[in-house]
Amino acid sequence: MARLHVLPVPPQRALAWSVGRWGGVLGVVALIVALLVTPRVALLTLWHIAVPLLPASFFINPALWRGVCPLSTVNAWGNHLGTPRELPERTAWRLGVAGLVLFHLLVPARHLAFNTDGTALAGVIVALALVALAAGAGFSSRSAFCNALCPVLPIERLYGQAPIVDVNRGRCASCTVCTPRACIDLADRKAMRQLLGPSRRHTDWLHTPFGLFAGSLPGFIVAYSVLPDGAPGQWATVYATTLGASLASYWSVRVLIDALAIPPLRATLALGAVSGVLYYWVSAPLISAALGLPGLAVSVIRGASSLLIALWVLRAVREDLRAAITASA
Ligand code: SF4
Repeated sequence: MARLHVLPVPPQRALAWSVGRWGGVLGVVALIVALLVTPRVALLTLWHIAVPLLPASFFINPALWRGVCPLSTVNAWGNHLGTPRELPERTAWRLGVAGLVLFHLLVPARHLAFNTDGTALAGVIVALALVALAAGAGFSSRSAFCNALCPVLPIERLYGQAPIVDVNRGRCASCTVCTPRACIDLADRKAMRQLLGPSRRHTDWLHTPFGLFAGSLPGFIVAYSVLPDGAPGQWATVYATTLGASLASYWSVRVLIDALAIPPLRATLALGAVSGVLYYWVSAPLISAALGLPGLAVSVIRGASSLLIALWVLRAVREDLRAAITASA
């Protein structure tokens, strides 16, 4: 595939990103070893320190994580193992839907195994890395995994639709436009508009896979938070709870959006904000208890995250107003 030099990354920044990428790879190798050798510490560090920082980083700019994510690095390494070809649009759509399904399978599975079983979690990380590698061997750049199948991508898109700070993309120094629409690294804050396409002008966007995901996320977050960790045999209860709450959330959001005629890009912004606040609201007591923090920590986590998300909303609204004023001038 011919390389199109779109917005090249300056060499000094490319070096910094390269250091970050190697740090990410070494970090995940250390995590896998720790999950096998000292699972209690590894699980605590991952689920109660590292993972809760990710949504905040997406609100700041999803490029921060995407630039160093070890699965993304493995996905790019795969390009050297095969003869990558362009990802057909239909396949990209199917992989994107599979990524949403993976999200709804893997996150509730934390309650069944991954929150408490280090070996099971290490196994699934290795399996995902192999899938990312194979996706890179089959399809150009990071089109098939990072921009389609990755189960974290929908969250990156929802929380990353209006980044608080500008960040140079950390990968693809020479972009091949492997993902013509809605690549977060390439389109930055235009990615959400590109993702919704013409449906962003009417309520059709709610019927798209991303619309289904965004509408169901608030209910999913609440359902996940009320479920206790249990044995794998409790899978029916866990999935019935998260799926039931997701459906209830989706239908409630749909009714509200229809009733109030909320424009799509306002609705995605509101859903991102509500989901982010909910996530930190329900996670704060769990993080505080797991790390043995004083009671004040719950208020600090909730307050700091709400402030960050309020800033995110304000900035997005301000930029929309600026764009509207420029367009009408
Ligand atoms: S992943 Fe995005 S930035 Fe990288 S080559 Fe593909 S379209 Fe370009």
